[in-house]
Amino acid sequence: MRYRINPRNGDKLSILGFGCMRFPKDEQEAARQVAYAIDQGVNYFDTAYIYSGNEAVLGRILAKDGYRDRVKIATKIPPYIVRKYEDLEKIFRTQLTRLQTDHIDYYFIHMLTDVKIWDRLKDLGILQWLEEKRRAGQIVNTGFSYHGGRDAFVQLVDAHDWDFCMIQYNFLDENNQAGKSGLQYAAAKGMPVMIMEPLRGGKLISALPKEVYALWENAHVKRTPAEWALRWVWDHPEATVVLSGMNTQAMLEENIRIASEVEAHSFTDPDYALFEQVRELLRKAIQIPCTGCGYCLPCPKGVDIPSCFSSYNDIAIVGKARAVKNYLMQTGMRPGSAAAAQCVQCGQCETHCPQSIPIRDSLKMTSRALEGFYFKPLQVLLRKFMRF
Ligand code: SF4
Ligand code: SF4
Repeated sequence: MRYRINPRNGDKLSILGFGCMRFPKDEQEAARQVAYAIDQGVNYFDTAYIYSGNEAVLGRILAKDGYRDRVKIATKIPPYIVRKYEDLEKIFRTQLTRLQTDHIDYYFIHMLTDVKIWDRLKDLGILQWLEEKRRAGQIVNTGFSYHGGRDAFVQLVDAHDWDFCMIQYNFLDENNQAGKSGLQYAAAKGMPVMIMEPLRGGKLISALPKEVYALWENAHVKRTPAEWALRWVWDHPEATVVLSGMNTQAMLEENIRIASEVEAHSFTDPDYALFEQVRELLRKAIQIPCTGCGYCLPCPKGVDIPSCFSSYNDIAIVGKARAVKNYLMQTGMRPGSAAAAQCVQCGQCETHCPQSIPIRDSLKMTSRALEGFYFKPLQVLLRKFMRF
């Protein structure tokens, strides 16, 4: 197993993290897989308060045979159920009990999409609470997981002296959400960056155009689509731990093998050329040739143009349901909304687009495709739930 060092505190973290959310239903099988992974050197386990029953299962498994002392536990607090200061402690106590531990190594504020959610938690007193937990040794590192747009990510990184963060990152999302620029921004500030969705929930190995699989099949090195996709992420030295939701022995063995061989910056020219070809094919499959460069921003109405277009393009790549979910997370859930329907057609953005995209028309198309009758009620409901 390869390890990367947390630049903040020197923790030696396995580059492969175990995403526990997709544990097999059979707890004995989950326990066997966890033991195997730890014995092979995996030392970072990720769960969350809202993954039903997951913290408790992980807690029961790690409580045996001294496994807890060999790993770092990462779990998350959902901001939307924190209504008052006392809720922080109540949720945290439940997590310690479920996980059968006296401390959490990596504690996330879960699923932030905007700095305003963090501001609300600060108003409730979270900074004081986190400091108390840190002094008591109950929370070792504090960070956040992120699903918003690029600009808001930078604001969030700058809003607090975070110990780490986690972003969605894979070869399809190089310029989506926090993207490569966000990864590099956080790393340049000395933050370890954990990576989620390296395979986009498995879609990168099961739902791309068949021509992409043919490319991988006939590539200069024989690798599975999963191996290509994982190696792409690990080629970035800024990616400290890459989570994988492993739940079969075959998956475990493959991922552990790759994580024991791979080095950052090990891609060769033919590897880069291959991914260029993959991108070219994906560009043909999508309808809006947005590269996510962000030159069109800021929009005076707050429309997150690249996020709108990446969600629209997701329809062709990962299906409409997932595209709508991404769209809601990236635009609809933000305070003030950054969705396509906010566009007032002023045209200011179009003069800056190097791809000459008819942004106004494309936003109309995006709004029609992704903001069906369900969008507004869902947005209101979610924003109420998130307590904006
Ligand atoms: S045309 Fe629409 S998206 Fe572009 S700057 Fe104006 S309001 Fe914003
Ligand atoms: S300037 Fe054009 S290519 Fe760049 S993010 Fe905006 S719409 Fe996309």
